[in-house]
Amino acid sequence: MVDIKPRLICKGLKNLTDDNFIKIETVKYACPNPDCDSVFTDKSNRNRHYNYHCGKPPRFQCPYCSHKSHRKSDVQVHINSRHRFFRNYVIELYNPCKKRNYINKKTE
Ligand SMILES: [Zn+2]
Ligand SMILES: [Zn+2]
Repeated sequence: MVDIKPRLICKGLKNLTDDNFIKIETVKYACPNPDCDSVFTDKSNRNRHYNYHCGKPPRFQCPYCSHKSHRKSDVQVHINSRHRFFRNYVIELYNPCKKRNYINKKTE
């Protein structure tokens, strides 16, 4: 019995490692918003979505029409295809990174 035990532990550890690999591959991070079905494979992508995009209006707008998007690159691609003779710049409707007390601060 004493001789068999260490082998069993080794075998168990090996199996445990294999299981962990499978779990890491299948892990999904769902958006905490109950009204949102978004699921992410990366936790940082999920957090960025929840903090900046989820339930929020589009942040970037095309200056030449009413096209809006959550991603600046989407509007840039849109301008390149729809308004290719115009200057390619994007209107930022709001900045979610700015803290509220920074806006309230008096500059006088
Ligand atoms: Zn969401
Ligand atoms: Zn446009």
